[in-house]
Amino acid sequence: MRLSLGSRARSVRPFRWSPNAPDHHHRCLSLLVIMGATGTGKSRLSIDVASRFPSEVINADKIQLYRGLDITTNKIPLRDRRSVPHHLLGDADPSAGELSPISFRRLAAASAASIASRRRLPVIAGGSNSLLHALLSGNPSPVGGYDFQSPVRLRFNCCFLWVDVREPVLSEHLDRRVDDMLGLGMFEELAGYIGTPEARAESGRNVGLNRAIGVPEFERYFRRFGPGVANPETDVAARAGYEEAVGEIKENTRRLAEAQREKIVKLGSSGGWRLNRVDATEAVRAGLEGEPDRFREAWDRDVLRPGLKVVKRFLDE
Ligand code: ATP
Repeated sequence: MRLSLGSRARSVRPFRWSPNAPDHHHRCLSLLVIMGATGTGKSRLSIDVASRFPSEVINADKIQLYRGLDITTNKIPLRDRRSVPHHLLGDADPSAGELSPISFRRLAAASAASIASRRRLPVIAGGSNSLLHALLSGNPSPVGGYDFQSPVRLRFNCCFLWVDVREPVLSEHLDRRVDDMLGLGMFEELAGYIGTPEARAESGRNVGLNRAIGVPEFERYFRRFGPGVANPETDVAARAGYEEAVGEIKENTRRLAEAQREKIVKLGSSGGWRLNRVDATEAVRAGLEGEPDRFREAWDRDVLRPGLKVVKRFLDE
């Protein structure tokens, strides 16, 4: 890819896109794809990359496409985006029906082309492998699923960064993250969303958003105990129901991460995507142990520097 500015402010070749352009035309559009299971640090890495190379981020988490439930779905807060523009993040009206992978393909490709036309690098960040497949594949399935056993021909010039965190560190981190999200107001957010029969009637049509981990688990709780916070001294049953919901959320989050990782491995092995794996295990471990300096050191050493090296090589090609 040709660069027109100095090393600190590289820009990418402008690109014009049309929905009917043939595949060889798409091959000129270069994308950075940051993959990884939930909780591995994709959002952090995408912002870090954007502070070195002018970039804009396109979300590829299928639940974060929708407006609402910002804490429950873990959308990167505005202050952490450090002015990096984000696309398809919380833009879709959740009551307007589920956004299909094929619609995502069209919307994300148009966003990527528009970003590249501004001489910036489109960075696709997200854990929904079905969306990544729909966007990047030269022959996506019209219904959105995909076959893991076959090679996947790419319709863009892609650079893949895979942020991986090994077990049991990832599970421990995910459990901790659920507790942190509850501390940030996840319960209250969900109480407003599905805490009362009226709220449930209102949110009932948000098919896509209602798949978010946290919604079904707490819905059972709210149906029994209502939207108030139980007093553990006096309301033992409500307290037990709450603990049960939190336990299920942790379990389902761990399962999600495991499934996402398996799909990534298959996209690399059977799909033939050339994944550049960076290992954030030590960084996440340091974070769990409450050591911010060690976290930064490990993140820079194991994730950021190797990741930037890969991106630089890709942009210089
Ligand atoms: P699948 O085909 O299994 O749906 P996928 O690649 O399309 O996989 P994933 O991102 O792995 O999509 O999401 C699978 C499920 O995990 C979602 O339907 C939802 O229940 C949950 N999930 C994913 N992302 C989030 C999120 N940000 N917040 C809450 N739940 C999520």
